[in-house]
Amino acid sequence: MKPAPFVRHVPRSLDEALKILAEVAPQDGRVLAGGQSLVPIMAFRLAKPAHLVDINEVEGLDRLASDGKTLSIGARVRHAAFHKPVVDNPLGQLLATVVRHIAHYPIRMRGTFCGSLAHSDPSSEWCLTAATLDATMVAKSTHGERLIPAADFFEGLMSTALAEDELLAEVRLPLLPDDTKFGFNEFNRRAGDFAMAASLVTYRRDGGKIVDAHVGVGGAEPAPRRIPEAEAALNGQAPGDAAFRAAAEAAATAVDAMEDHQTTADYRRDLVRAVVRRALESSA
Ligand SMILES: Cc1cc2nc3c(=O)[nH]c(=O)nc-3n(C[C@H](O)[C@H](O)[C@H](O)COP(=O)(O)OP(=O)(O)OC[C@H]3O[C@@H](n4cnc5c(N)ncnc54)[C@H](O)[C@@H]3O)c2cc1C
Repeated sequence: MKPAPFVRHVPRSLDEALKILAEVAPQDGRVLAGGQSLVPIMAFRLAKPAHLVDINEVEGLDRLASDGKTLSIGARVRHAAFHKPVVDNPLGQLLATVVRHIAHYPIRMRGTFCGSLAHSDPSSEWCLTAATLDATMVAKSTHGERLIPAADFFEGLMSTALAEDELLAEVRLPLLPDDTKFGFNEFNRRAGDFAMAASLVTYRRDGGKIVDAHVGVGGAEPAPRRIPEAEAALNGQAPGDAAFRAAAEAAATAVDAMEDHQTTADYRRDLVRAVVRRALESSA
C-alpha cells in the first residue's frame, strides 16, 4: 500500500515549524514525528494529509531535562530514551519500567513520547502515564503557548484538546517524592500489542498507611484517566491484599468499559479488576 501524494516540509526552527503548521493545518496538514502511527495510517489511506510538517530537524525539541521539580520531554524525544532511568528519581525507574511494554524495539527507536500523546490511542502506555501522574502539556502555535493539564487534554477516543495548528512541543511530568511506590500492569494477547487494559499506580506510606494514591486505568475507556473511587479505597489503608482487592473492585465498578472487535465490555471490566490488582501487587 502507498500513501496518497503529500508535500513534506522540513523546518529547522520552532518558529518556522509553527508558521508552516499554521499555513497548512486548514488543508489537513499534520505534524510528522516518529511516523510510527501516522505512516501506517497513511499507507492504508485512512488518512490522506496534503502536507506533513516533519519536526525531526527542529532544533531544541530533543530536550529531555529536569529542573528538580519536573521532567521536561521535548517533541523529538523517542520512546527508547527511557530504556534507562533518565532522572535520579522514582520517576526515572517508573518510565524505564513502562517503556518496555510499548510496541517493539525498532518502533521504540523512532516513535516519540509526545507523538503518542498527540495520537492519543486509548491503550497508549504514555497516555496512561501522563494521566496518572497529572502531566502538563505545553502546546505551541503562532498564537503563543498554552499549558494543558492531562485531565483536560485527553478528550475521548484518539481525540485531544490540541487545536489543528498547535504543536505539542513538550510534556512536563512531576518528579515523584523519593518514597513513592509504583506498579504497572497491562494485559495483551501478544507481547508488543496494544493493551486491552492497563493500570499504573503510585502511592506513598505514612505511618504504615497509604497516602496520595494515584490509580490510572488505560485501554478500558476511550481515554485513560485516574479513578478516584479506587484511590479512595486505598488512602488511609495498610498496603496489602485487602486494600488492593478493594481498589481493584472499585476501579472495575467505576469504569464504563468499551466493547470493540477484540472483546466485550464485561470481559474488559474483568481485565480492569485484574490489572489494577496486579499493578498494586507489583508495587508492594
Ligand atoms: C506494530 C506497532 C505496535 C505499536 N504498539 C504500541 C503500543 O503497544 N503502545 C503504544 O503506546 N504505541 C504503540 N505503537 C505506536 C507507537 O508508539 C507510536 O510511536 C506513537 O503512537 C506515535 O508516536 P510517533 O512519534 O510515531 O507519531 P507519528 O506517527 O509521527 O504521529 C502520530 C499522530 O500524532 C500527531 N503528532 C505527532 N507528534 C505531534 C506533536 N508533537 N504535536 C502535535 N501532533 C503530533 C501526528 O500528526 C499524527 O496525527 C505501535 C505502533 C506500531 C506500528
